Amino acid sequence: MAKRDYYEILGVSREASAEDIKKAYRKLAMQYHPDRNQGDATAEEKFKEVAEAYEVLSAADKRERYDRFGHDGVKGGGGGYDFGHVDLAEALRIFMEEGFGFGSIFGGEGRTRRQPRGRDLQATLQMGLEDIATGIHKKLRIAKFIRCQTCSGSGHQQGSEPVTCSTCQGHGKVRQVSQSIFGRFENITTCPQCRGDGKIITNPCPTCRGEGITKGEETIEVDIPAGVMTGNYLTVQGKGNAGPKGGPNGDLIVVIQEKEHPVFVRHENDLVYEHYASFPDLALGTEAEIPTIALEEDGAELPLEDLNRYQKVQIQIPPGTQPGKVFRLRGKGIPDVHAHSHQRGDLLVKIKVWVPTHLSSQEKEQLKKLAISENFTAPKKSKGFFQKFKEALNI
Ligand SMILES: [Zn+2]
Ligand SMILES: [Zn+2]
Repeated sequence: MAKRDYYEILGVSREASAEDIKKAYRKLAMQYHPDRNQGDATAEEKFKEVAEAYEVLSAADKRERYDRFGHDGVKGGGGGYDFGHVDLAEALRIFMEEGFGFGSIFGGEGRTRRQPRGRDLQATLQMGLEDIATGIHKKLRIAKFIRCQTCSGSGHQQGSEPVTCSTCQGHGKVRQVSQSIFGRFENITTCPQCRGDGKIITNPCPTCRGEGITKGEETIEVDIPAGVMTGNYLTVQGKGNAGPKGGPNGDLIVVIQEKEHPVFVRHENDLVYEHYASFPDLALGTEAEIPTIALEEDGAELPLEDLNRYQKVQIQIPPGTQPGKVFRLRGKGIPDVHAHSHQRGDLLVKIKVWVPTHLSSQEKEQLKKLAISENFTAPKKSKGFFQKFKEALNI
């Protein structure tokens, strides 16, 4: 799918000011924020798209390069910016760094100040093709910030209560008025006294020093479906870092990375296997045993322990098979991650010829005798361009 124009994504003109870009981003980011669109994958995609557009257009140097070269001109072009895809953790970081909250700033009508959310965490999960073929249930031990056990995340010592900040009266934001040659400016900024919390902890918890979170770890169980590939990710909601002072947890984003396989090469859902055969076998025809990754449907028994994951399949190699010939074993590839049916790709067996590197004198004699036979001479295709080319060069 072609990437959309960043200006179009934000709905601004190419001449838009930095302020216009920020305003447009803020509006869209709030609209599509994952917290407001629980489980809506389209909204999440839009949110990432908007964050990516903003990241480029909000930085003067990146915007200039984008204006000149577009998406492609800048990608990987020696010393250029990599505008690649922004992931969810990245999009949320951009959003959070802008300091945008959801509530209206001086929240009227009983709106409560939004608690700061814990940061998202990213974990990379390396998977072999065998696990990818079946899908796995995995326990991940994640080092992260967890809720402080001493104060249950509140940040204050038991028996004491935080007091409302007198500077901002608990709003967490203050108005600042400044005078310049252009006139009077009014700015709304985070309260310097309570750092936006609205409350002040007078007796902080000794374990977490008032933060409400401590370093720890958690074992998190994830189900990875069959057919995933490098770059796919899974969002485990609420399993990221604990939020400071009792705020909500961030998400854990598990990114899949496929390990290189010693035998198979993956092309989307197909697997490629190179089978080496001797010249006599290819000339005479033979049977060959081809390894496949066996799933339950192939009669493999669960749990699939290492060697049980492979099944040998017999194929017929007819006489006169040329190297490079591909035999397709339908349905012996990787299940599709999207299809509900988990329709499987194919296993492509590519025939290679094995040329001996050591020959006995007897073998040499035999081969020399065979080499003079017309059957062992490569065919001369008449009238073809290649043939004329060869004739011209006398080869
Ligand atoms: Zn504590
Ligand atoms: Zn305050």
